Amino acid sequence: MHGLMMESELLISSVLRHADKNFGDREIVSVTADNPLHRYTYADCCRRTRQLANAIDKLGLDHGDRIATLAWNDYRHLEAYYAIGGAGFVCHTVNPRLFPEQIVFIINHAEDKWLFVDLLILPLVEKIADQIPGVEGFVVLTDDANMPETSLKNAVSYESLIGSESDEYEWPEFDERTACALCYTSGTTGNPKGVLFSHRSQILHAYAAVSPDVMGLRSRDCVLPVVPLFHVNAWGIPYAAMMVGTKLVFPGPKMGDGETLYQLLEQEEVSLSLGVPTVWLALLQYAEASGQKLNRLERTIIGGAAVPEAMIREFRDKHDVDVIQGWGMTEMSPLGTVSTPKSGTENLSPDEMISLKAKAGRGICGVEMRIVDDEGKELPWDGVAYGALQVRGPWVCSDYYKLEGESESHTEDGWFDTGDVATIDELGYMAITDRTKDVIKSGGEWISSIDVENTAMGHAAVAEAAVIGVPHPKWTERPLLIIIKAEGAELTSEEILQWLDGKIAKWWIPDDVVFVDEIPHTATGKIKKIDLRKQFADYKLPG
Ligand code: AMP
Repeated sequence: MHGLMMESELLISSVLRHADKNFGDREIVSVTADNPLHRYTYADCCRRTRQLANAIDKLGLDHGDRIATLAWNDYRHLEAYYAIGGAGFVCHTVNPRLFPEQIVFIINHAEDKWLFVDLLILPLVEKIADQIPGVEGFVVLTDDANMPETSLKNAVSYESLIGSESDEYEWPEFDERTACALCYTSGTTGNPKGVLFSHRSQILHAYAAVSPDVMGLRSRDCVLPVVPLFHVNAWGIPYAAMMVGTKLVFPGPKMGDGETLYQLLEQEEVSLSLGVPTVWLALLQYAEASGQKLNRLERTIIGGAAVPEAMIREFRDKHDVDVIQGWGMTEMSPLGTVSTPKSGTENLSPDEMISLKAKAGRGICGVEMRIVDDEGKELPWDGVAYGALQVRGPWVCSDYYKLEGESESHTEDGWFDTGDVATIDELGYMAITDRTKDVIKSGGEWISSIDVENTAMGHAAVAEAAVIGVPHPKWTERPLLIIIKAEGAELTSEEILQWLDGKIAKWWIPDDVVFVDEIPHTATGKIKKIDLRKQFADYKLPG
C-alpha cells in the first residue's frame, strides 16, 4: 500500500521559489572581475535567475543539453546554477585551474553547447576555442560596458543576454531524477570522469547538509564558501544556503588571497566559511603576519584533504573558531562524514576533542559506510582495522557519465569504492589513512602517510609536509618526508625526526627528510603525490 502523500518532485527550482518568498531581503555579496564589492538581495537574485532562464530557453537547446561555466564564485555564477538546472538543462561547472588540454577534453566529452565564462578566464577560452567546436556560443560574465573585444563566436555579455528578458518565469516540472549538474573529478590518472547529479540527489544532499550535526546552517548565518562553485557545487552550499536563507558572501577571483578573505570575513560578519586546508593556511598565515584575530567567524568546515591537528588548534586557540572536518568526494555530491561531536563525547578533554576533530568524521544519515579487506570481507569498527572504504546512498553516484558499466568503481552488491583506505572507530568516526594508490607498504604493513604528514605539520617550523613511499630492498617501501619550511624558520632533518619520535609508531618514522621550496597540488588543492613520486623516482634512501 502506498502512502497518501503528494508526489511533489524534488527540484532545485523549489528552493529558489522558497528563498524568494521567505528570504527576499537577505544579502548576497560578491567580489567580481568588474566590481570590487557587488551587493544585492535574494529577491534580486531570484528575479535575475528567472530572466536568465527565459534567455536560456531562447538559445534553441534541448532539455538535458549541457551548458558549461568556467567561473569563480560570484552572484552571476549562482544565478547560472539555478537558471540552467531549474529550466531543465545541465549546468556543467568546469574547473579553470585544470590544464587547458583537460578543459578541452571535459568540454568535448560533455558536449557542452554554450559556455558561461568569467572575464578573467576569457583569454584561456579564446586560446582553446578552436578545439571546442561543439560550443555554439559564449556568455561573458559582465555587462556591455566591461565587455572586451573577443574572437569568440556568438559572444554576448551576461547583462545584455538577460537585460530585456521578462522576470516572470514558470519553472518547468519534471521527473526529479533528471540531471541538473555535471562535475568532472580531477583524477590524477587517466581522463577526468563526469559525475552527473540529479535534482533529487542535490535536494536530499542539501537537506542533510543544513541539519544541526552536519553544517548546522541557520537563516541568521552568513556563509562564505571559499570552496569553488566548480568543486562539487561548492559542497552543496548554493542549495543548502538558499534553503535556509543565509547571507552569502562570494570572494570571486580572490579566493586564494588571505588579505581579501580576512577583510570579507570581518566586514561582512561571516559566521561560517568552508574550504580546503591549503586556503586556510594562506588565511592563517596572513592573520599571523598582520597580527590580527578573526573576530566574527564562529566555525569553519574544512575538507577535501586531511586537516592537520595544528590547524584545528590554531583556529581554536588564536581565533576562537571551531573547526569541523568533512570528508567526501565529487562522486558523493560530496558530503559523506563530518567530525561534529556526538553524545558520549561531552567529557573529552580539549586535547582529545582536537584528536576527534582530526578524524574525517562520522557518517551522515543517507550515506552508509563500510570498510572491507582485500577479499571484500567487512572489517570491524574498532579504530584499528583498516581497509577499502565503500559507500552507498541516494547522493552517491551510480556510475560515471558516458562510462556506464565500464569503470570498476562499484562492487557487485552495489557499493561505490571510494579509493580511500580508512579506519572506523567504535563511535563511528572514520579516519582516512590514505588513498589506495598512495599507501606505503612497509614489511607487509601499511603506513598512514596522512598521519605522518599531520604530525610533522604540528612542528612550528613546517609550512607543509608530504610523505611518499620510496623503494626499499628489505621493506619493499619506506617513507620519505618532504617538507616546505615555514618562512624564515630553521629546521634540520634530525630535529623533525626527533619531533616525530614518540608521536607516531616507531616504524612509521621516515627514513629520510628532504626540504623543498614547492610541493605540487592538484587543481582542487590536494597534494599531488603522483608528481612527487615522479620527482623522487631516482631517489636513493641513505644506507
Ligand atoms: P574530490 O572528489 O576532488 O573532492 O576528492 C575526493 C577525495 O579527497 C577523497 O576521496 C579523499 O581522498 C580526499 N579527501 C576529502 N576529504 C578528506 C579528508 N577530510 N581527509 C582526507 N582526505 C580527504
